[in-house]
Formats: sequence, C-alpha cells, structure tokens
Amino acid sequence: MPRRTKIVATLGPATDDTRVLDAVIAAGVDVVRLNLSHDSHVRHSRRAEQVRERAAALGRDVGVLLDLQGPKIRIGRFREGAIELEAGGYFAIDADCGLDDGDQARVGTTYPGLIDDLRPGDRLLLDDGAIELDVESVVGRAARCRVLIGGRLSNNKGINKKGGGLSAPALTDKDKADIAFAGEIQADYLAVSFVRHAEDVQLARTLFTEAGGSGGIVAKIERAEALSCIDEIIAASEAVMIARGDLGVEIGDAELPAVQKDLIRRSRELNSVVITATQMMQSMIDYPYPTRAEVFDVANAVLDGTDAVMLSAETSIGRYPAKVVEAMHRICKEAEKQRSARRSTHRIDSVFGRVDEAIAMATMYTANHLDVKAIAALTETGSTVKWMSRISSGIPIYAPTRHVATRRKVTLFRGVYPVSFDVSSTDIHEVNREVVEVLLRQGVVRDGDLVVITKGDRSGVEGQTNIMKIMRVGEHRLLAGD
Ligand code: PGA
Ligand code: MN
Repeated sequence: MPRRTKIVATLGPATDDTRVLDAVIAAGVDVVRLNLSHDSHVRHSRRAEQVRERAAALGRDVGVLLDLQGPKIRIGRFREGAIELEAGGYFAIDADCGLDDGDQARVGTTYPGLIDDLRPGDRLLLDDGAIELDVESVVGRAARCRVLIGGRLSNNKGINKKGGGLSAPALTDKDKADIAFAGEIQADYLAVSFVRHAEDVQLARTLFTEAGGSGGIVAKIERAEALSCIDEIIAASEAVMIARGDLGVEIGDAELPAVQKDLIRRSRELNSVVITATQMMQSMIDYPYPTRAEVFDVANAVLDGTDAVMLSAETSIGRYPAKVVEAMHRICKEAEKQRSARRSTHRIDSVFGRVDEAIAMATMYTANHLDVKAIAALTETGSTVKWMSRISSGIPIYAPTRHVATRRKVTLFRGVYPVSFDVSSTDIHEVNREVVEVLLRQGVVRDGDLVVITKGDRSGVEGQTNIMKIMRVGEHRLLAGD
C-alpha cells in the first residue's frame, strides 16, 4: 500500500545538489516548498525548474508550493553585534532608532506601526519566545519594556505579540512582487503568511490570478485572530497550514495540540486540505535519526487526519535531507495502519449538494465496506478526488487526468495519487478498460482485484462525474466496451 499522508519538504542549499534532490524525490517527497523568506527569485526559479525536471526523469509528479515571507516583524540590528538582556532590566523597541543603530538600551524595528499597536501590559516575544518583554509604557515612538525573560539577543530576530492583534497587513510590497513571481513559475500552491481573515486570502488570489497563476492558495494559520474566523479562511483557500512556529508564540505552545486537532477536523469537515508544519523532525537537522518525541508528533498528526506533514530547515539546510524524508515516510506508513486512520463516520448525516459529490461519497462508502483494491476517479480539476480523500480510508485513490496542473495539485491530498491519462484521446467505450490497464501496468492491482471507477458521461468536462462502476480486474478484458 502506498503511503497516504503527503510529505512537503522545503528546498534550500542542502538540496541543490542534483544527487541529493534525486534522493529526496526517490524517498517520496510529494510537494516541495520554496521559502521566500530566503534567497533570490533566480535561485528559487532554478530550484522549481530543477525539481520538475528531476521528478519527470524519475517518473513522478511533484507539486511546487511557494511560501510568501509575509509581514514577519523583526527588530533591527545592533551596532556591536548581539547584546545580553538581564531579567528585571529595561529595554526599548524604538521606531525612531535606525535599523543599524541598536545598542544595550534600545533597538529599531522593520514595522514602525508596531508601536501604535502596543499598550502598557502587552507582552512581546522575541526570537520565537526565547526573550519576553513586558510593555510598561509607550512614549513617543518607543515602547519601554521590562525584561521578563532575558538572554542573548542578536540582529533581525522576530517579534510577536502574545495574543495577537498587530495591525500589519498580510501582504507586504515584497509579497506582491513575489506573487507575480509565483505566477511566472506557475506555482501549484501559493502560501500566504500571517493571514488575518478571508479577505487576505481573496486579495492574494486576485493578485495571483492577475499574474497568470492558477494554483491553490494555502492560508498559513499563525496569528491568534485567524482562529476566530477560521471557517471563512478555510472556505476561501484550497488548504490551510498549521504554522506551529509563529502560532505557538502568539497563542502559547501548550495551546497548540488542541488547536492542531481542531483545525484538522474542521478543514476536513469543510472539504478542505490541511498541512501540519514546523519542527516535526527538528533534531534531524543535525542527527540521522529522529527523537522518540518527533516520531510521536508525526504519527499523531497522521492520526489527527492531516493531509500532509511538512519539513522546513530539516531538508533546506539540514545534514540529512533524504534520511529525514525516509524517516517521515516510515512513521506515516506505520501510523496509517491504525484502525482509526482508516474508518470514518465523516459526513454520515450530511446532505450532498452536487451529483459529483454524491458519487464521490458513495464511492468511499463502497470502498470502505467492500474488499476493493483501488479507486480510480477520472478528474479534470481534482474536486472529485478531494471530496473522496476527506473520508478516512485505507483504499488508494488514483486520479487519472490529462492535466499536469491537476496532477501536481492532488499531490497534497491524503491518499490521492496522480496518474497521467488522456481521456480525450481514448474511445469513450474503452475508458474503463484503459484505466484498469494503466493500474495494471503500474503494478497497483492484479487479476481478481476489485476496482471502483468514477467518471462522467461527458468525459473531459469538469464537474460532470455521474457514474460509479465496480470492475473486477481480468474480467475487464472480456467486457464489450462501456
Ligand atoms: P515559517 O512558517 O516557517 O514561514 O515561519 C511556519 C511557522 O511559522 O510555523
Ligand atoms: Mn511563520
């Protein structure tokens, strides 16, 4: 059985060598992430080209996800390198301080509007929470803070406000230029950082479409306020990413597990896709094996029902990019054997709005209750397989399609596997037979296996799925056409 949970891996200097990239693809990466917080457009477009070329050479479809930097608020730099903050002492974030003029008493910020958002009693977290400041007063353009947790503070570290509420818009000027770039390289997914509400997602989509992009929008959930309008954000995007790094700083790390479970459940209920991200295999940046806690983290995300698990620094700058993908693959596969990962009462009481959606649900109900080996759902845009994959199951869902963009999009959906198949050049009465032949050639079914096929009477037209057919491999050769 193929692994169902998808692996997203960030590319970086550690994966630029073709041999390493080949090993990462061979280890089973489904989607690669290009992180625009680092590196130039030239390097990223080279990486996108390289991964598409190598995936094609290895006979795979790999999606490309472009991740915008967003309004990550940072402190400026220090005149003399890092400083040491003592608990109980004072320190100021000062919008009037030059970005290179920080010293022991104060430092500048990349977002001067930060000062307007602060009130006495607010807590600021620097460097992912390593340093905590209590805002005592705001005087002029400076927030005077008492140091609650001290430590070493170096240049350009991030600033978060506990509880959220910073006014910075989700798309900066850099992000807008990066969206145009995403259109140029035909990114399969565009991830928007620090989304506050659905309008942020809609604006990104408008700009992406204007730039010629047709991929899906991923809303990164990493601000406290996004949680209060999460249904609208899920509905406005193709997928959400649980960006546990920044989110944990804003809402508190102890709150993360419950929020992760809620977000996964809600996304699936609303027919959307979800990626669990950040620090899943953190120790493998330096070591060739994960900690037990990391094994549990990945396995628990699988049991929670995530579509994909994500790697950041582990692959982009880590020492063992291919080994970490192999380890994740192993852990996911094993977790997927648990009964709870394969059975579903999802949407058992709901009313379906469309014929194609009803066919998708009927297929999953059948596959989960009959001894079916595989599902093959002919698809134009990927909607049918997305509905199917919202239902927990142990049965692989193949997505035969002639559209490369659709093949790359479905790489993110749990339990869905892209298959190149041109329905438009196949005799309409031969489609079922041909699809079974493709599955046979790929070695995923054998004579005697049952396969469920879904398609539309008007093949090659989107939104038209209206047929579910159960076939026995072997007998398909004897059938007179359709
Ligand atoms: P980042 O997003 O890696 O772009 O910061 C993920 C996160 O915040 O967890
Ligand atoms: Mn983040």
